[in-house]
Amino acid sequence: MPIIADLHVHSRYAQAVSPRMTLAELLRQAEIKGVDVIGTGDFTHPLHFEAIENELEPAEPGLLRMRNSSSRVRFLLSTEVCSIFYSKSRQEKRIHTLLLAPSLESVREVNRELAHWGHLEEDGRPTFRRHAKDLVHFLRSVHPDILAIPAHAWTPWYSLFGSNFGFNSIEECFEEETPFIHAIETGLDSDPAMVRRVPQLDGVACVSFSDAHSPEKIGREATIFGTALDYHAMVRAIREKDPQGLLRTLETDSRYGKYFWDGHRKCGVALSPAETRRRKHLCPACRSKVTVGVAHRIETLAQRPEDWREPSAIPFQTILPLEEILANSLGRETGSKAVETEYKRLIQALGPELKILLEVSESDLKLAAHPLTAEAVLALREKNYSVVPGYDGAWGKPEMISEERRLVFTRPQMEMF
Ligand SMILES: [Zn+2]
Ligand SMILES: [Zn+2]
Repeated sequence: MPIIADLHVHSRYAQAVSPRMTLAELLRQAEIKGVDVIGTGDFTHPLHFEAIENELEPAEPGLLRMRNSSSRVRFLLSTEVCSIFYSKSRQEKRIHTLLLAPSLESVREVNRELAHWGHLEEDGRPTFRRHAKDLVHFLRSVHPDILAIPAHAWTPWYSLFGSNFGFNSIEECFEEETPFIHAIETGLDSDPAMVRRVPQLDGVACVSFSDAHSPEKIGREATIFGTALDYHAMVRAIREKDPQGLLRTLETDSRYGKYFWDGHRKCGVALSPAETRRRKHLCPACRSKVTVGVAHRIETLAQRPEDWREPSAIPFQTILPLEEILANSLGRETGSKAVETEYKRLIQALGPELKILLEVSESDLKLAAHPLTAEAVLALREKNYSVVPGYDGAWGKPEMISEERRLVFTRPQMEMF
């Protein structure tokens, strides 16, 4: 059985994270979404790690389960840290790194040392004013199977290749520790097809996780493993880019991401990379520099054309949150009561969510879902939809069902009354 893993999430102890993000809620949401292995998040935080030790117990190698629970969901020890440091060229750099660890003992040892690097209790995502390569070096000394993965590698802030405070290559950032960077997290705004245009990343695997700050966002991106339920086997699959072990990733449509295109949200200005270059990076509304997004950064570092496909690449599937599909097909807002009610009903009838998006048959969809929702899910699978790209913190807007289609669909029913 393939293992669907979402290994980048946060706890309620990290800044800007929902107070509902407890281990029990992570488990509950993993079941609703269809995630088999979920990250604990924030293992560096003393209170969250206390909860991990109290509420979870060791299960398969390197994995944990909830005590007194029959759930099949497993936890994997994970956290994200922020490194702020100066590069060789004396520029300030700010990088987020996702960490995965194989045991409670290894985490205790990591936390003991990192408590000297920064204030672990201040934020579930602690900040260290130390070079990112020192972090990788230290982690290797604790356990060879601890994995450090540059998080959301392309987003404008706090990322390896970000347009603000980022780098142009892995080597520039991690220097002699580069051989120990085996993967990057694509983030919401990029997918492996975009990443593979950049030859310097050929040796590096792409992984994808939700980076959820609230329960509903869990599983919006994930990595699917074909290994045994075993931390070390999963890490080995990433390291070796083994197509039998690292089966595929689930990626939200990159255009949906908040930083896909360039622009200024406050000015309502969205620009394609070409348009940004034409305008010399200046916002046509306020004349100051625009926020350069992910598509632009990839264009800058790419040496291969947009339609380039690596024959042996680990495949990926493009998805969108069911909540967005419901909002679009029902003509309602995300977060509205109507969308929430229909979401719950569909999960009951056909769930979990990832199964609805990827697997449930056309006939079952048509039986249980609103006809336009069924149509929208099929459009997603057939890649027959459009997205108005996101930019500078504004989400993209997917459209599977056009407004005209919704009107045509609802008119005959209205006429009956
Ligand atoms: Zn981050
Ligand atoms: Zn502006």
